[in-house]
Amino acid sequence: MTNLYDRLSVNFPADGDAPFAFLPDGAVVSYGEVETASARYANALVSLGVQAGDRVAVQVEKSIEMLLLYLGCLRSGAVFLPLNTAYTAGELDYFVADAEPALFVCDPARRDAIKALPAARGLSHVETLDGARGGSLAQLARSAPAVFAAVDRGDDDLAAILYTSGTTGRAKGAMLSHDNLASNAFTLRDVWQFSSQDVLLHALPIFHTHGLFVATNVTLAAGASIIFLPAFDVGDVIRALPRATVMMGVPTFYIRLLQQPGFVRELVSHMRLFVSGSAPLSADIHREFRERTGHAILERYGMTETNMNTSNPYIGDRIAGTVGLPLPGVDVRIANPQTGEELPLGEVGVIEVRGPNVFKGYWRMPDKTATEFRNGHFITGDLGRMDDRGYVSIVGREKDLIIAGGFNIYPAEVENAIDALPAVHEVAVIGVPDSDLGERIVAVIVPREKGFADAEAITTALSDTIARFKQPRRIVFVDELPKNAMGKVQKAVLRERYSGAFQ
Ligand code: ATP
Ligand code: MG
Repeated sequence: MTNLYDRLSVNFPADGDAPFAFLPDGAVVSYGEVETASARYANALVSLGVQAGDRVAVQVEKSIEMLLLYLGCLRSGAVFLPLNTAYTAGELDYFVADAEPALFVCDPARRDAIKALPAARGLSHVETLDGARGGSLAQLARSAPAVFAAVDRGDDDLAAILYTSGTTGRAKGAMLSHDNLASNAFTLRDVWQFSSQDVLLHALPIFHTHGLFVATNVTLAAGASIIFLPAFDVGDVIRALPRATVMMGVPTFYIRLLQQPGFVRELVSHMRLFVSGSAPLSADIHREFRERTGHAILERYGMTETNMNTSNPYIGDRIAGTVGLPLPGVDVRIANPQTGEELPLGEVGVIEVRGPNVFKGYWRMPDKTATEFRNGHFITGDLGRMDDRGYVSIVGREKDLIIAGGFNIYPAEVENAIDALPAVHEVAVIGVPDSDLGERIVAVIVPREKGFADAEAITTALSDTIARFKQPRRIVFVDELPKNAMGKVQKAVLRERYSGAFQ
């Protein structure tokens, strides 16, 4: 029994009326409906001629139907391939050409545009889902039988292809097997102590590993329920928190919550857990959150290619500025980026991981896949160190490392020092080309008070906290940092914007 759906569903509550999802309009989707509706989607896929191993590309607004379709894909053996809703028709052409889906599911308003894509010529089916439980595929599913025996899958058979966030370049398709997803779902359920009593506040997108696999699979693996919000709206989140026991978010969620005067200790005193990931959570925000609420946010680290790799402990010290300990069954090593040789504890190197969570490779990029593995480990491209207790700290991506005057400068270290200053709301530190030093350190700051632009005050405050060679040579103040759909700062955009600006 290796189909992920079967492995999850043995944990569903025995009572089919038990709630799985609470929807914004007050409707409740029960576990019984999860079972029947996902069977209907599986049958609908089969009736369209979708076979096991075929890709089903899905670009629709977040909706419960999209989740049920995901489960229907799993059951039928089709490969679920969600796409960021922000992608334009032009960008979609690349994904359609790359993925060659047997079926493309889109919003009804986009149907004609999709059909007109050059790459769509080889596409046999375009169906729709509209977010309000309508659309041609929803209709087809409604009239399909409500039982379906999940197709047996081998451990290496793909459950999904997920494109990476495209933070550092063109998004790559990561091939994830049923077993990759199952292993991580059960590991996280156990280490975060999820039970059927949990109610997860879900405000993340579901085209990304965080909202789709971490949040949803863990909930299903525990037979728990979710409050399913269409997006992160801080007012909606504050209204929903009293009914939740757990929340998962990107750092931006926590930053925005802290900006709300109504976000007070009493509102969350009943909560069991707050999880953060997908981008670095500053130690400053961690501290502020703890002071305000009494909760230590649990930060974890993962990526599309590997699922989750490390997590701060559920019981034990959740250390601000670290991503915690390797998860059970996941081997994390810190290696010399050039040679791959393992480095002693405390030294900074590239983070490499190995385990049942690690993907099967990049879709149709065998050469790239081959170069990203070394001695059985996947080379994450993230730089970090491990302390003597095993806690991992990320110091930045290898691609964002700054080399100025011959010294390696890890952006995260400088960012943490700047973030800790009261005048600073958010910061990104980048290197831009410099004829003298090779690279020059630039800090791009969003001040706490609009209009604050005192670079000298920042420089003076830093003189006590970080060595001179790590201090920014230029400080610019902006209203906001460029971020992608996952709330990740797009450093490549900043580098481009400021390269040449200070020559
Ligand atoms: P691309 O690979 O296309 O450039 P991406 O790496 O942002 O985009 P994802 O797979 O969504 O795509 O993100 C994984 C990356 O996010 C990790 O490699 C790491 O750099 C970052 N990340 C995830 N969690 C954390 C965390 N807790 N702290 C710091 N960085 C994190
Ligand atoms: Mg990446």
